[in-house]
Amino acid sequence: MKARVRFAPSPTGALHIGGVRTALYNFLLARQTGGTMILRIEDTDQNRYVPGAEEYILESLAWAGIQIDEGVGVGGPHAPYRQSERREIYQQFAKQLVESGHAYFAFDTEEELEAMRSQTPNAQYDGSTRRQMRNSLSLPAEETARLLESGSYVIRLLVEPGEEIILQDIIRGEVRVQSSQLDDKVLMKSDGMPTYHLANVIDDYLMRITHVIRGEEWLPSAPHHVLLYRYFGWEKEMPRFAHLPLLLKPDGNGKLSKRDADRMGFPIFPLNWRDPKSGDVSKGFRENGYLPAAVINFLALLGWNPGTTQELFSMEELIQAFSLDRVNKAGAKFDIHKAQWFNQHYLRALPNEQLAGFLLEETRKANVTCTEEKALQIVAVLRERVTFPQDFWHLGQLFFSPPSQFDPEAVSKRWTADSTRVLVAFQKAVSESKGLTAEEAKSLFEAAASSQGVKPGSALAALRIALTGGMSGPDLMQTMAILGGAETASRLHHALGVLSVKGS
Ligand code: GLU
Repeated sequence: MKARVRFAPSPTGALHIGGVRTALYNFLLARQTGGTMILRIEDTDQNRYVPGAEEYILESLAWAGIQIDEGVGVGGPHAPYRQSERREIYQQFAKQLVESGHAYFAFDTEEELEAMRSQTPNAQYDGSTRRQMRNSLSLPAEETARLLESGSYVIRLLVEPGEEIILQDIIRGEVRVQSSQLDDKVLMKSDGMPTYHLANVIDDYLMRITHVIRGEEWLPSAPHHVLLYRYFGWEKEMPRFAHLPLLLKPDGNGKLSKRDADRMGFPIFPLNWRDPKSGDVSKGFRENGYLPAAVINFLALLGWNPGTTQELFSMEELIQAFSLDRVNKAGAKFDIHKAQWFNQHYLRALPNEQLAGFLLEETRKANVTCTEEKALQIVAVLRERVTFPQDFWHLGQLFFSPPSQFDPEAVSKRWTADSTRVLVAFQKAVSESKGLTAEEAKSLFEAAASSQGVKPGSALAALRIALTGGMSGPDLMQTMAILGGAETASRLHHALGVLSVKGS
């Protein structure tokens, strides 16, 4: 069956990375079935509206490679797809519910609602309280008519008692709720806007949605949604529900929050987000150097498993392999190291030309000259050591400037009389070399060592200290080929001048 699915975010701030996962699972099902991926913007709560959030959502999805077939930014047969532009539709349907006796007008003020709630613990607006409240069921008809004319009102769902609501969730299994436990949810607010519940159900119905795939936090709303389908007489067209497991913090239990991410130093938003109120900027996965392919692979496995040991999936492979039946019920721990592991994999899969582009971008930013040829050489020696594109610049520092200091521990252990004699001999030889290659560097170094009666391997650490200041780094012979004979000799000369051999 061709699935018609929708991603229906509210533009209340930056899209959380969990939202990208929700969008992804919808997208995978749409593509797998040859169906349709819809983007609907649920912006009926004017108090929570944040400017820029909608653009941010669109840009995030585009970056992640989640294409929209129908909806905001694309258009389609059910336009408009922004709920704030559909209020007449909701008003009509709300009226229809009132006329069929499934909804009613309520006039209670905030204070009256507060008083009701404080009278009895856990009190809610429902069959046990609605008669004491001010609404079209409790007030005489003339009074209701007068209040409708003059004042502000809301429309509430009339939840009938004694109904059993059974929800077959693809992921959670069967969920049963008695209607007596549900409150008379507000459907239309006094500002003429629908609430999430009403707009969400009407649009899913009108847009012929086949599967509602969304975060677990929306599960508590589902029984009301089922009731609405029943009261509208749309039960046969009801979409199938799939409530995705929560994303959990990496350590301990509980839902992953922005605070956890900040505390542990990883992003939680796909792209940089600048809070329009505070001006604070939160870093995104993109700006942190994550590749879309890595983020997609990582998110796909956060809650879904293929039933095999395969871990690496391209988007195409995910489209083939994905199924809602293999989405786990249990929350998924957000392990950022796994995301880094994927990033490393996808980064290393790129050709050197593209990796060199990353390095050149950084050198330009830093106002450092670097030829394309040099960049290609550098990424070739560093490619197995990087996790993020910007690592080429950080790890590649040694190719642009001589070490500003030498690791004292390394010096005290490996800067020996034997090694320095080798380095002196090598410096002479290498300074004369034009167009130094790695092979040539190696043979010159071996010759220098043997001229001093020293095994080349035992002088390598000192060579590395002289060239890089420390004990670890990329292949030394290739490093020298990139530095060239003159620069290599000059670094050796400097180190031999400033570092002294222990005991001498
Ligand atoms: N507007 C809700 C949100 O922000 C949509 C929930 C749903 O998908 O039904 O996530």
